[in-house]
Amino acid sequence: MAFHVMLIPTLGCPSNCSYCWSSDEGSPLMDIEVIEEVVKWLKNFRREPVTFTFHGGEPLLAGYDFYRKALPMLTEGLSHLKPALALQSNLWNLTDEMAELFHEYNIPIGSSIDGPQELNDLQRGAGYFEKTMRGYEIAKAHNLRVSFISTITSYSIDHKEDIFNFFLDKGLNLKIHPALPSLRDDRPEKWAISPKQYGELLIYLLDRYLENVEDITVMNIDNLCKSVFLRRGTVCTYVDCMGDTFAVGPDGSIYPCYRFVGMPEYVMGNVRDHPTVEELAESAPARLLEDYKEYVDEECSQCEYIKFCRGGCPYNAITPHNGKIKGLDPHCTAYKMIFKEITERANKEFSSAPNMGMLFARPKEKPTIMSLMLKRS
Ligand code: SF4
Ligand code: SF4
Repeated sequence: MAFHVMLIPTLGCPSNCSYCWSSDEGSPLMDIEVIEEVVKWLKNFRREPVTFTFHGGEPLLAGYDFYRKALPMLTEGLSHLKPALALQSNLWNLTDEMAELFHEYNIPIGSSIDGPQELNDLQRGAGYFEKTMRGYEIAKAHNLRVSFISTITSYSIDHKEDIFNFFLDKGLNLKIHPALPSLRDDRPEKWAISPKQYGELLIYLLDRYLENVEDITVMNIDNLCKSVFLRRGTVCTYVDCMGDTFAVGPDGSIYPCYRFVGMPEYVMGNVRDHPTVEELAESAPARLLEDYKEYVDEECSQCEYIKFCRGGCPYNAITPHNGKIKGLDPHCTAYKMIFKEITERANKEFSSAPNMGMLFARPKEKPTIMSLMLKRS
């Protein structure tokens, strides 16, 4: 099984999104020596393929020289792990020379736009939309693949139609992200959407997607349909992520996931010590997440979706309880709603199709859930 290491060159970010929980103004920049240590650490860590995602804060703040050194170090130094690379960025600081470098290393980029300019800038700050779109043009000019995430908040949920139409009209793939309560905020729930709202939103997206399947990809729905079909999760939220995902902060500290970076109580070790799989598994944060897995085995044992939900995201689950395991991922309600919808519709398609061929929609026929389940990524 492949594993994932998120590299967080800084928690600093030039934008000031209202609901952001992952930026920190005073955060230092990662020194290239940390990447050297990552390579030494992972040399004999595991044998499976690895994906590195540069994440933040805003990872482009690390600058061209950092990436010019880091990318060959990771790909050549760990060639036996067949490293795949990815980047999550607001694109404001993307330059032609950086874009050229990312193209050379075949790096797909995830970025963030919440919807039309006015809505986006209301949530993410004046000028955000223009700066990100400027970076997007540079990325396109260098043939980089860019996909966007729209964070859905308690405000933007009322504009879901405008958001969907924006992505459809612009020919952009859509991935949504429900705004999360933050472990760092004194009003953690302010921007978050309720689990029921999230469930209804996913069902709305399923319907709109089926109407427009030729013109847009809704990544959340693709992943959910595939998970139901394969009976196992296809993104981190719906698998036991612990042990297969790590994040490295600017100072070389290792965490279970980027969402925990910067919180000392979630440090599992440091890349300079080259910890083994077993040593990391013995750290307090790893044990906490392992406890969550056991908690899910018990709490969700009667749930028909447990195989492809796995209790959702442990970060979401412990956030409302001050880092303690006292409940499931609060989006459980949303997951049940969408898994039920997909399962029931797929079963109905099965029982009403006179033959198997009918399940795979051909152009001009009404797309089916089954066609989404089998859609190529
Ligand atoms: S903690 Fe949540 S976001 Fe992080 S890897 Fe696990 S499921 Fe994904
Ligand atoms: S839908 Fe809810 S009860 Fe079912 S596995 Fe997921 S978190 Fe557990």
